[in-house]
This record gives sequence, C-alpha cells and structure tokens, in this order.
Amino acid sequence: MTNNAEMMTPVRVIDLRSDTVTRPSQAMRTAISLAEVGDDVYGEDPTVHELERRAAELLGFEAALFIPTGTMANLIAVMVHCRGGDSEAILGHRSHIHLYEQGGIATLAGVHTRVVKNHADGTLDLEEVEAAIRLDDVHFPVTRLICVENTHNMCGGRVISPLFMTRLTQLAQSRGVAVHVDGARLLNAAVALGVPPDRLLVNCSSSTLCLSKSLGAPVGSMLAGSAAFIAQARRRRKVLGGGWRQAGVLAAAGLVALDAMIDRLVEDHQAAQRVARTVSNVAPALVQCDPEHVDTNIVMVTLTDDCGIQTADICTALKEATIKEMEAIGESVSVIVSAISSRCLRLVFHADISTDDVDLVIKKLTYVLQKINANKK
Ligand SMILES: *Cc1c(COP(=O)(O)O)cnc(C)c1O
Repeated sequence: MTNNAEMMTPVRVIDLRSDTVTRPSQAMRTAISLAEVGDDVYGEDPTVHELERRAAELLGFEAALFIPTGTMANLIAVMVHCRGGDSEAILGHRSHIHLYEQGGIATLAGVHTRVVKNHADGTLDLEEVEAAIRLDDVHFPVTRLICVENTHNMCGGRVISPLFMTRLTQLAQSRGVAVHVDGARLLNAAVALGVPPDRLLVNCSSSTLCLSKSLGAPVGSMLAGSAAFIAQARRRRKVLGGGWRQAGVLAAAGLVALDAMIDRLVEDHQAAQRVARTVSNVAPALVQCDPEHVDTNIVMVTLTDDCGIQTADICTALKEATIKEMEAIGESVSVIVSAISSRCLRLVFHADISTDDVDLVIKKLTYVLQKINANKK
C-alpha cells in the first residue's frame, strides 16, 4: 500500500471472482426507492407479484417464487420434488448442488444424493443416468429427481444444448422422474444460443434463475414451476425462514434486472472470449485455456502439470500492483480471481467490468504470466 501511495494514479481494482460481486445500478437504486410494497408473507406485495409473474412468463412456467438465494431455491425445489421421503436425486459430480450447498439436500431435506459424472461440457452420460434411476425395490431409495445445471459453473460456464435437454427429459418422463434445472445463469445460456430461455426448459419440472449474478441485482433468485409446485415451494420457503415481508424493495431491482440487464450479457461473453484468447497464447508451457470451450462469461485457466507453481502464486501476482508493472502497463491494476483448486483459476465477467477494464485485465494477465514464465526458465 505504501508503494501505491507513492504512485500518481490510485490502484484500479478489477474483481473477477464471481458475477455475484456486481453492485446495483443507479436504475435499480431508483426503482428500489420508489417500489410499492406490502407484506409478502400475506401475499400483499405488488412488486413481488409482478416480478414473479414476469419470471414465470420468461421461463415458460405457470408460476414463480422470489427466494433470497439460489441455494435456498435449489433446496426448496429438491424438497418439493422429493417430498414423501425415501427419495434420491441424481446430480452431476461437479454440480453446484452437490459441491457448494453444504449438502443441504441431505441434511435439511433428507434426500439421498446419487452422483453421476459430468462430462467436460457439463452434460451427463444418459446411459449412466438411466442405469442410476432406481424405482420400487425395498433395498433402494426411490429416484424422484434429476438435476442439471445450465450454464454449468464448474465446467466453465458451458451451455447445455436444447438437444441434450430433449434427450434427458424424454428419459426422465419415460421413468416418471422430474427434472430440475439449476439455472443460476440460464440467461447466459439463452443469450449465447440466441434462443428464448423457455426453449431450454421444455418438459422440465422446475428451474431456478439468479438475479444476483450477471443480471446485477443486489439479492434474489427465482424458482419457477407449475402452480401446484410453487404453492408447495411457498410453504417450504416459509419453514426455512425465507418469508421476507416487504421484499418488494428487492423485487424492484429484480424487475430492472429483467428489463435492462439481459441484452448486455453478450458483452460479458465477448470479454470472456477476448481474455481466453489472450491466455491461450501467452504462455502455453505455464497455463492453458481453450477459447472454444468458453461459451459464456466464465473463463477457466488450468496450470500445466509440470509448471512448478500453484494457482495461489498467480492470484497473488495478479492482485498486487507494483511500480515496475505500472511502468510496463501504464496503469496500476489489481485483478482479483478465484483459485478453484491448486491447478485451476476461474475468471468471471459481469456488468461492473467495462471494456477498459477488459483491456487492463489482458495487459495485466500478459505481464504476470510472461514474467512468471520467464522466471521459471
Ligand atoms: C451461485 C450459484 C448457485 C447459488 O446461488 P446463491 O444465490 O449464491 O445461493 C446455485 N447454482 C449455481 C450453478 C450457481 O452458480
């Protein structure tokens, strides 16, 4: 910091850890201040009603429910689909529900997890899924649900195709099993494919959608499904402590997210492409990144097996802004990224990253990776 104080320009911090870090836009703050509200637990918040109506329409379901987080929305979906007990849900081994939700579907919903391998593109092997479905045997839990994630976060924001979804839902329907889509970033998938989001949910039983990620809202996720499903989901939300009174102030920001933030997602995808192309060329003996596999706003960077360093080393170098690099880059930049593991970094592009920021990220990555690569030799 003392170094920075000596510099002419302040450090520019570019936060690529997640698209959850976005701050509400001025339009959202205005909408929040003007929102008409009521007690949503009594069903009396008109702004929440409007958001739920709009989300249901967008996702092609009868109804939707506004929920504090995507984690709670997934948990509620599993609780409703698997009610009655002795149930299991089939999940991909890299899915958010399996890896990052504290195992809540086991501890809070009492649902057994049956894990199937994700392909690198986020899909599941349908033969494996079919073999995993278990019905009507006293030894087994009953498979009531298959969950898929679109886009697939840990697989690098990959888009799950409508063709895969058709095959999956045909299989699920033939076995009487529901399909839930963890659609935290479903709109990124829809924008990348150039299709309306409901096209990606045909014959699915439910879907989530995060407003608080690349859509830039401060808080909130949607869960959509049939009217009967959502009526049950509303009960579960209450028992989990998610009845949230004058939530219209948050729903107002969510409405701005749906109105103003979808069309701009393409900019995040372009930024991710540009950065992926840079990283793929800069130091192939050190880091690898395949731009062909960057479908949306997430870039995964993998360290080569024998590079001799760990992701933490790169994170540190990207974060610190040194005088030397200020001379090389022309600006003082701190880039914050996530180390998913000792081998893999994740960079996520979002509404608070400008085109100028992307230029700086490219300069900084090039500088840092070249320097580490040179020192290594
Ligand atoms: C972020 C995320 C969630 C959970 O959202 P929170 O609002 O952070 O609880 C669920 N699924 C996926 C794929 C996510 O990326």
